[in-house]
Amino acid sequence: MTLPPGPEGHPADPSGTSAGAAGSAEGATGTAGTAGAAAQVLRRVFGYESFRSGQREIIEHVVDGGDALVLMPTGGGKSLCYQIPALVRPGTGIVVSPLIALMQDQVDALRALGVRAGFLNSSQDLDQRRTVEAAFLAGELDLLYLAPERLRVEATLRLLDRGRISLFAIDEAHCVAQWGHDFRPDYLMLSMLHERWPSVPRVALTATATPETHKEITTRLGLADAYHHVADFDRPNIQYRIVPKKEPKAQLLHLLRTEHPGDAGIVYCLSRASVEKIAEFLAGQGIPALPYHAGLDNRVRAENQARFLREDGIVMVATIAFGMGIDKPDVRFVAHLDLPKSVEGYYQETGRAGRDGLRSTAWLAYGLQDVVQQRRLIDASPGDAAHRRRLGTHLDAMLALCETVECRRVGLLAYFGQRGTAACGNCDTCLEPPQSWDGTVAAQKLLSAVLRLDRERHQRFGAGHVIDILLGRSTPKVTQHRHETLTVFGVGEDLRELDWRGVVRQLLAQGLLAVQGEHGTLALTEASADVLRGTRTVALRREPERVARSSARAGGDAASAGAGRARRTASVDLPAQAAPVFEKLRAWRGATAKEQGVPAYVIFHDATLREIATQLPTSLADLATISGVGENKLAKYGEQLLDVLAGSAEPPEPD
Ligand code: ADP
Ligand code: ZN
Repeated sequence: MTLPPGPEGHPADPSGTSAGAAGSAEGATGTAGTAGAAAQVLRRVFGYESFRSGQREIIEHVVDGGDALVLMPTGGGKSLCYQIPALVRPGTGIVVSPLIALMQDQVDALRALGVRAGFLNSSQDLDQRRTVEAAFLAGELDLLYLAPERLRVEATLRLLDRGRISLFAIDEAHCVAQWGHDFRPDYLMLSMLHERWPSVPRVALTATATPETHKEITTRLGLADAYHHVADFDRPNIQYRIVPKKEPKAQLLHLLRTEHPGDAGIVYCLSRASVEKIAEFLAGQGIPALPYHAGLDNRVRAENQARFLREDGIVMVATIAFGMGIDKPDVRFVAHLDLPKSVEGYYQETGRAGRDGLRSTAWLAYGLQDVVQQRRLIDASPGDAAHRRRLGTHLDAMLALCETVECRRVGLLAYFGQRGTAACGNCDTCLEPPQSWDGTVAAQKLLSAVLRLDRERHQRFGAGHVIDILLGRSTPKVTQHRHETLTVFGVGEDLRELDWRGVVRQLLAQGLLAVQGEHGTLALTEASADVLRGTRTVALRREPERVARSSARAGGDAASAGAGRARRTASVDLPAQAAPVFEKLRAWRGATAKEQGVPAYVIFHDATLREIATQLPTSLADLATISGVGENKLAKYGEQLLDVLAGSAEPPEPD
């Protein structure tokens, strides 16, 4: 069965039991009615006063039966773009999402709002699945979450045929793009949704949106005629910092101790082994850190994820297997100890910080070894030459971001096609502008050393050995190969080892030098010749004198900026009287969440508790005006909240 779409399909739900039914109770048709119904659901169900930028247009378009492609950064408010239309339109909204492990939480969060939601995935037993299927067929679900692989099963398609579908939401839509970093073959067949149910509107959503990925989603899902919304991709509350990697563990510890004590955050590492090592190290330092990677037992992994979501202040040390769809709003920092493979990946991973709009840090430590390692991984990667070229392009863009002397945010946004933005004042290069220097002569010295070693083709010499030669060090390896006799021996004594490593790293980043083979042998590129001939100059970024881990000092060292302002925990920026109330509310929320076995933010977000703590509502009517307090939560928690407030408030002094 297919559905008649369009405005004529909005009868008021006579049962009146659904949160959405209330929204469509005006029984309106036409655009004015659509707008009214959507705004009413926003207020009644979600407790929000107004739409965020872009939401209204998307929602009205989908409510009216149109397709939409939504590119919005994490935290932008994508979920409402399909949840509200699903509540306003008759039938069940089908949400395709790859995030099986999070479906329970997503459904819990919706149920807490009074929305009738369910999911079908492989974690359920037959009985559980049957119950959900029956609810769907009986028209008792507003939203049904499905993993994409479910749609490969003919039985699922037949089930969908027998129910009434209000829309398809395709979450994490970038997974359909092979260009991107998260390709999932199961997503390719989602083009079939439109063929099988041509009149059901589809809304595809993603937080990753280079122009290339945008184009690929459009063609693969057949969304050329859809309403496209490309949001402003800036995340102004995130401070971007990329620092040279010296002693990564100590640098990380310093960041956590001085700027994020007690905060929840994510630390990304490339390998499972380093995840384990870093998690252990942090735990040994008294920081509540947990590991997460694909090699862990399923149960342990699920448990660690649940603790991260449910408890306050957990640091998750993880491979990039962790994090997609994690909508914990109060992640205060994302730290990378290894270089991400692409700007898209970097942006998506760092985007998990600060969904609640409060100040957050994205911190990346990166060094020469990262470049060598990533290049090696690309050389060794399976797939054809085109695939390796694509990986190389991604890496080059990431390296350019690392080595830029310009505002990081400007670079990031330009990568996502957003040009002409001004320097942000909230990234390391803005806070402490790096100096550049003319590295042409240094580059020539280094390249000619590589050229000379290249003549001994059977040998393998990495960056360390080349630098030893330039610095005139008679190491055993230098002596063994009689490299003291090279004309370049000792010609680089004017620079420190640190600087030379910077030169190598930046030449690699600029494509003026290459690494080969599993030993990371340095080799010349076509472009190297221009430098050696003197027809091309090389501008380099100066290596910072100071190590980020030494403590804050005058002059605002960007690497340790924030150390002075320190603690950005959730209660900062609150007026003095409000802070203890906020803590009380948090304690109440913690206990309530525990009792119900759901994450704390499912009860209320920090932002809502902050507003309550500052406004100090004294009646249910007052409470209802707070953003994030909808009808259902008001009925459920209103009295309890007023009790908590009454218990903590000093009676006002009449004068
Ligand atoms: P995304 O899926 O784009 O990452 P979410 O849909 O999770 O973002 O929304 C991010 C946060 O913003 C959530 O806490 C959500 O409840 C809140 N939010 C979304 N839309 C609005 C709005 N119109 N008014 C207030 N808060 C909103
Ligand atoms: Zn900046």
